[in-house]
Amino acid sequence: MRVLKFGGTSVADADAVRRVVAIVASERQTTAIAGLVVVVSALGGVTDRLLEVAALARRGDASHALALVDVLYTRHLETLAVLAPGEHGGPVPEAVDALFSQLRALAGAVAVLHEASPRSLDAIAAIGELASSRIVTAALVAAGIPATWADPRALIVTDEAFTAATPLFDETVEQTEANLRPALDSGRVVVTGGFVGATRHGVTTTLGRGGSDYSASLLGAALGADQIQIWTDVDGMLTADPRVVDSVRLVPFLSFAEAAELAYFGAKVLHPRSIQPAAARNIPVRILNTFKPQAPGTLIADGAAPEASPVTALACKKGITVVTITSTGMLMAYGYLRRLFEVFERYRTPVDVVSTSEVSVSVTIDDRTHLDSIVAALSAFAEVSVSNHLALVAVVGDRYGADPSAFSRVVKALEGLPLRLVSQADARRNVTLVLDQDDLPRAMAQLHAEFFHQGHPTPATLMTSAAGAP
Ligand code: ADP
Ligand code: ASP
Ligand code: MG
Repeated sequence: MRVLKFGGTSVADADAVRRVVAIVASERQTTAIAGLVVVVSALGGVTDRLLEVAALARRGDASHALALVDVLYTRHLETLAVLAPGEHGGPVPEAVDALFSQLRALAGAVAVLHEASPRSLDAIAAIGELASSRIVTAALVAAGIPATWADPRALIVTDEAFTAATPLFDETVEQTEANLRPALDSGRVVVTGGFVGATRHGVTTTLGRGGSDYSASLLGAALGADQIQIWTDVDGMLTADPRVVDSVRLVPFLSFAEAAELAYFGAKVLHPRSIQPAAARNIPVRILNTFKPQAPGTLIADGAAPEASPVTALACKKGITVVTITSTGMLMAYGYLRRLFEVFERYRTPVDVVSTSEVSVSVTIDDRTHLDSIVAALSAFAEVSVSNHLALVAVVGDRYGADPSAFSRVVKALEGLPLRLVSQADARRNVTLVLDQDDLPRAMAQLHAEFFHQGHPTPATLMTSAAGAP
């Protein structure tokens, strides 16, 4: 069986959902695969709007919050009415009504309390995927495809870390076997919402922004899929973030390890943790373009890539903070680093890059939620300084470590740009650099030119030189 995940732009409106229906229909016909699971994101932009509803309500502005709920409600109903008019909608219009009544009640409660706990935020944000998955189910059924809806809260079991919950894999396998497998076995396409899960007690959670990719990978791993497809609005994994670098190219093939590094260091096309479940079960992942379904996309799997280049792609993240901890107590002391990292653990703040000197340790974080508490806790045993407005660049490739000239090429490409931190591990698949955020576009452009233009003539330049050859 196969899992097909469609992101927000791929289900943004009725036309987009029609493309999804066509892709699902063709996948059912052209593959001999028994069983398709379709995982969808909220309609494009809806999660942001839902969080805006929560923010307005928290400020006590119930009337604007409810007005925004009405806009969202109308958008969902109109999309549904186009895709599955009248009776074709079956029970879905009532289900969507019920979700928006819940949303109004949640917004009302937040407005009264002037407080939006992470738990309330998840209940509010989850409405997007719960509604979109209902609508896509109705659209498939209206198009004659036997489809059925599954509640993601009955499939993905998580811990209680609201807004960034961690899935509990064994429980998720149990739930999917009980609540999804029977429908698959009966030959139906099962549609569910990504991003959303529930605790063991059934309280709604989410997997963090962009989490639908993670849902797809988890469900694929839980069900033993033969492939996971991530359908999105670009051709696949590109050599760099197309919003930062011009003239990026498609990366046709990535290893699991490369994909995981790129996702972790900011390649938004994949949720940072989405590769692990697929990789653990060796399930190939394909990234495909909903708007160009015939294009080959990117294949993520184990094995050697055909290209021998030391760098496969670049990734970057803005809004990085560096915390530098200085203490003479570090000198020759064991246990010091444990003490230091325990502080970040206590506040559930992931550290991405680490660099040490004799008396100081610098780490990067991109979640500043608990920064004040972290600084206070570290200040109990060391001097602490914080730098903001930084960006992180990751240069990634399985062959990076085997190429002795790769690092010097990175440094040469960045000549003239002050580097704040550089980190490269022994088992090198990447080098990570931290620099001022204002320097990011130039750094990315120069690195991209170094690794993806020089020595890699494009077909156009090849043609020119052939024509101009004596
Ligand atoms: P979806 O809604 O389908 O999940 P996302 O917006 O989450 O889509 O991810 C796709 C976007 O990721 C692309 O439109 C692109 O702007 C951005 N992106 C950033 N880095 C990369 C990269 N290296 N390759 C492809 N896309 C990237
Ligand atoms: N809708 C959620 C978000 O916007 C999850 C996703 O799209 O993957 O973050
Ligand atoms: Mg996404």
